[in-house]
Amino acid sequence: MPIPTENVGSLPRPSALQEAMNAYDRGEISRDELEAKQDEACRDSIERMEATGQWVVTDGEQRESSFATYPLTDTLGGTGLADTLAPEGQYFAIFDDEHVRQLPRLVTGPFKYKTYAAEFVEKARAIATKPVKQAVIAPSMLMLLYPLDEEVPGYPREQFLDDLVDECEKDIRQCFQAGAVRVSMDFTEGRLANKNDSRNPWTGRDMLQDFIDLNNRVMDRFTAAERQDIGVHTCPGGDRDSVHSAEVPYEKLLSKMFDINAGYFLIQCASERDRENVYKLCGEYSRVDAYGVPQVCFMGVIDPLNPRVETPEEVKSELVTASTHIPVERLGATDDCGFSPFSLDEKPKHGSPDFARDIAFQKITSRVQGTHLASQELGV
Ligand SMILES: [Zn+2]
Repeated sequence: MPIPTENVGSLPRPSALQEAMNAYDRGEISRDELEAKQDEACRDSIERMEATGQWVVTDGEQRESSFATYPLTDTLGGTGLADTLAPEGQYFAIFDDEHVRQLPRLVTGPFKYKTYAAEFVEKARAIATKPVKQAVIAPSMLMLLYPLDEEVPGYPREQFLDDLVDECEKDIRQCFQAGAVRVSMDFTEGRLANKNDSRNPWTGRDMLQDFIDLNNRVMDRFTAAERQDIGVHTCPGGDRDSVHSAEVPYEKLLSKMFDINAGYFLIQCASERDRENVYKLCGEYSRVDAYGVPQVCFMGVIDPLNPRVETPEEVKSELVTASTHIPVERLGATDDCGFSPFSLDEKPKHGSPDFARDIAFQKITSRVQGTHLASQELGV
């Protein structure tokens, strides 16, 4: 079988859509007007992603406030925040360029999603002529909605975690029911869990194992056949062309991450200094049998934070090197991250989100072509 390839999920939102989101937050345009702009951006995303030759497409998350907050709030500005939440909870991350992204906080139970990702899948499928994938948020991220130390009155942490696992399972199951062929879970907090950043207390609480255990509570609700198409994405962040945990030794995460019983992993690698070591670690730690499913390592061969477009030859050469450490039947190709996980993102290194969109499609095309070349060279 040729080496499979798929994207993580997001694309930069066109500047016109970002302006519309801000105008909606200010009450200047209606919900219908915002949705018309989202419809337009989704259509453009799907058509252009299909043109790259990739077998599976996403809507680029053009309707989502962010990869992490789509179940909770309509916009990043906070319009439509779920009733049980309040603004200004824990920092999700403090990025290297000093900008921060903050989660809301849970003020009362029971915890329920306001929006399930299946809604995006249905709308994407109405446009797409190719199969559709959807990224969802991992429970380990939403776990941070609960205060780190205090208890929410009348809603113990354990009850919250039980409800959270139910909601995540429902989110994934509904995506498949809506016709998604692949569902990947965003797990960007995995590497950050070993950062020990005093400005962001949860990163010093050694939470990686708790994250993995919680994610497995969701995985364990799916059969091996279902988990073949459930992935996990890891990265050191990718927002406003900046990262949050690239300096954390990767092995701390990679030596544990494959304990998650997922069928495939979308693994940032292109922006690593020592890529061969990452291939080696993935070859060493990924499992041939994760409770009935072989784990496929989709290695990042494209850096969405860098405007330079990788060539198909470069992609091919990385995959051929990777295949010396990872069995080719368990090797795939992806991008290091979504191209814009948060809806409001000016893509500073690119100069504009519109230019960054053009670059993103060129990069995906290179990945598709380079992966094809690697399959040919490796005879698969
Ligand atoms: Zn990412």
